[in-house]
Amino acid sequence: MKEQKKSWNELPIGGSILEAGNSKNYFTGTWRTFKPVHNAKLCINCYFCWMHCPDDSIVIENGKVTGMDLDHCKGCGVCAEVCPKKAITMEKEEK
Ligand code: SF4
Ligand code: SF4
Repeated sequence: MKEQKKSWNELPIGGSILEAGNSKNYFTGTWRTFKPVHNAKLCINCYFCWMHCPDDSIVIENGKVTGMDLDHCKGCGVCAEVCPKKAITMEKEEK
């Protein structure tokens, strides 16, 4: 994971976001203290987690949830809360 760091005097005044659609450039996963762990055996691919994730970090491949984009997942736990099958658990992040 490549972390982007700017010094305070390189940031736009007021922390404004000047380039629309740039969220992929910022690795917000570095903020995480807990990470979601997906259990494919319990998952029924209802996509509730995908619908509710505020960071668009649920990975779907060939129509199935396969895990999370941990470069951008902030570990909020919403996906685990909404999962009807308890197929996502939050685990302490080892850093
Ligand atoms: S909410 Fe749970 S069961 Fe539904 S797709 Fe996500 S992980 Fe699978
Ligand atoms: S923990 Fe939060 S940010 Fe990470 S995948 Fe789940 S809902 Fe998205």
